[in-house]
Amino acid sequence: MSKPEFWNNEKRYYDLKSFFINTFGCKVYKIQIDAGFTCPNRDGKIATGGCIYCNGKGSALREQGPLPSVADQITTGKALYRRMRDAKKFIAYFQTFTNTYGPIEHLKSLYDEALAQDDIVGMSVGTRPDCVPDEVLDLFEEYAQSHHVWLEYGLQSIHDKTLKVINRGHDSETYCDAVHRTADRDINICTHIIIGLPGEACEDTIKTAERVASLPVNGIKIHLLLALRGTGLGDMYEAGKITLPTKEEYVATVCDILEILPPDMVIQRLTADGYRDIYLAPDWGRNKLDVLNTIDRELKRRDSWQGKRF
Ligand code: SF4
Repeated sequence: MSKPEFWNNEKRYYDLKSFFINTFGCKVYKIQIDAGFTCPNRDGKIATGGCIYCNGKGSALREQGPLPSVADQITTGKALYRRMRDAKKFIAYFQTFTNTYGPIEHLKSLYDEALAQDDIVGMSVGTRPDCVPDEVLDLFEEYAQSHHVWLEYGLQSIHDKTLKVINRGHDSETYCDAVHRTADRDINICTHIIIGLPGEACEDTIKTAERVASLPVNGIKIHLLLALRGTGLGDMYEAGKITLPTKEEYVATVCDILEILPPDMVIQRLTADGYRDIYLAPDWGRNKLDVLNTIDRELKRRDSWQGKRF
């Protein structure tokens, strides 16, 4: 038994870069967009405090003043990538807050604007599983007939007890229902999970991954829990009320998870980064490249790869 050949890569997991090259024949770059959305877990519709790890600020762009249009953000993003690399194709990545939270006409105008730009081959839209009514999914189903479309669902944990602790404002059943309604419409699904959540042991995170692996999910982002200044979690960390995983614990859990995921599930992220101005802990998490290299070394040491125990 060895790693799947269809990955066409040198890695021990099916990374997003390889998936795009296999799908489009070239590298595809995601351009981050802040389209001015809010979040129902912050604006009072569900709650006001938000998830305990969320700093609630949105993108750096938002802090600089009025947001440029979606088209202008894409033009800027393309220019940046083209300066650095041989970039020809792009995905519009609606990243900030809950990007399906608004009247359907408003959503359609933003997505239409993105998909109308040159060299945009599709879009990836980050949202919550409780913000995708059928009319929104019907809209995505239409886009998916002519474009490459992903919906990214924040789940974080399959355990309702943890979802309460972190103040997610939805339960696991809501996530499973959203996944099934999305998969029925042939839209790609990416799920975000977090390692190191308060009250969770490694086994709990693995149970989350097992559940995700059992569902029609096409991609996953595995995040490291970051303690950020100005968040509820940051306060808990500074008060000594929580401990965060060590690098060794984190890497071992990531590898355990990769082993039980389907070989064709696209690994879109294996750690977390950014937030330099408000970053508190864990200190080792600041070096993303080191974390990724350590994961590679651990998989090699185990003579293992994504899906080996699926
Ligand atoms: S759902 Fe996302 S944007 Fe909303 S509070 Fe949680 S982390 Fe922040």
